[in-house]
Amino acid sequence: MNNEHITEQAVTSSASIREGRGQTAVDYRYLRMARIWAENSYCKRRQVGALVVKDKMIISDGYNGTPSGFENVCEDETGVTKPYVLHAEANAITKLARSGNNSEGSTLYVTASPCIECAKLIIQAGIRRVVYAEKYRLTDGIDLLTRAGIEVEYRSLDGTR
Ligand SMILES: [Zn+2]
Repeated sequence: MNNEHITEQAVTSSASIREGRGQTAVDYRYLRMARIWAENSYCKRRQVGALVVKDKMIISDGYNGTPSGFENVCEDETGVTKPYVLHAEANAITKLARSGNNSEGSTLYVTASPCIECAKLIIQAGIRRVVYAEKYRLTDGIDLLTRAGIEVEYRSLDGTR
């Protein structure tokens, strides 16, 4: 555990080394944690988890679901997702708005490709890097992030435990 901490500290201090194996391993760990966090979601169609990491600390987390105080059901009787369900990224970012933490310069780990609505929030939250695990047919969210100069990386969790 201690070694892991040192490794992470060393790799995040250098952008060039960050592309190497060290950061990749850390990225996978956080993504796997995000995937486990997605299990909190009571949505049936899809479970998505997100973590916001800054200075080697998880400063926020989220999973897709209805707003606080609403019933814990994401889909209507026909199985369609309710319009007021918040995405994992939106829940993680809005949770930060109620906390003392600041997302400026942070990394967002999310188990699915961000949609365009979440991409807007990610940009405005000052998140600098997005690592996601699952591609989506629409790439408008990813395109917007890239256009905003945010570093976007895809890491497949297929075959990882
Ligand atoms: Zn979204």
